[in-house]
Amino acid sequence: MNIILLGPPGAGKGTQAKILVDERGMTQLSTGDMLREAKTSGSEMGNRAAEVMNRGELVSDDIVVGLIEEKLAAPHGAGFIFDGFPRTLAQADALGDLLARHGETLDAVVEMRVDDAALTRRITGRFTCANCGAVYHDETKPTAKAGVCDVCGGTTFTRRADDNEDALRQRLMEYYKKTSPLIGYYHAKGALRVVDGLAPIDAVAGAIRKVLDNS
Ligand code: ADP
Ligand code: ADP
Ligand code: ZN
Repeated sequence: MNIILLGPPGAGKGTQAKILVDERGMTQLSTGDMLREAKTSGSEMGNRAAEVMNRGELVSDDIVVGLIEEKLAAPHGAGFIFDGFPRTLAQADALGDLLARHGETLDAVVEMRVDDAALTRRITGRFTCANCGAVYHDETKPTAKAGVCDVCGGTTFTRRADDNEDALRQRLMEYYKKTSPLIGYYHAKGALRVVDGLAPIDAVAGAIRKVLDNS
């Protein structure tokens, strides 16, 4: 089963993708994570992408479609979770073509619906374990023991360069202009399923479980 998690920055896509990886053995493909890895590797593409990302704008379709294409041939257990991809209609068309070429289907597009005020709180409170990438929140998902990662015991945490109010404003604009048309696109294909992203993490996971069991 292959699915897309669709929603604005901070909707909880990464959090839910990780739960699906643990519960179902699916494979998370996050273009945001791939781009941040390219940035850390210091490649020219990574450096160019980092500038665009820090401004809160979208990286070019060619780059992100190329990143996804590289991963589709790899073994993927119980299926792919596309997290933060596609983000434009051109990317959605490209994904359709790529899946067809690999003999794969798209089984559900889960839209996580959240309002802008909640997104600002989510983004400004987000922090990540530098060692294993586990995602936390100052208020809604703190570590069990202050300063220690629940997953790996790491004690170093990072905050994303683009998780500030200015970049977020731009990211939201990009979402509404370029990504939200995908809601209509997948609705027309009969693939769209909507969940309430404002509910607590476990409740959202339950709603997604229900959607996937009926898809
Ligand atoms: P969030 O978790 O806040 O939704 P991501 O980690 O998915 O953000 O993405 C961070 C940034 O990486 C985006 O603001 C954008 O600059 C770039 N990016 C990630 N995925 C894509 C994509 N599919 N198309 C274009 N740019 C992307
Ligand atoms: P996205 O990948 O869509 O940008 P994340 O999964 O990184 O979103 O979540 C953004 C922030 O909100 C993180 O700090 C995360 O811990 C927190 N968060 C995620 N889901 C929920 C939820 N349902 N309720 C409260 N906080 C949440
Ligand atoms: Zn960790």
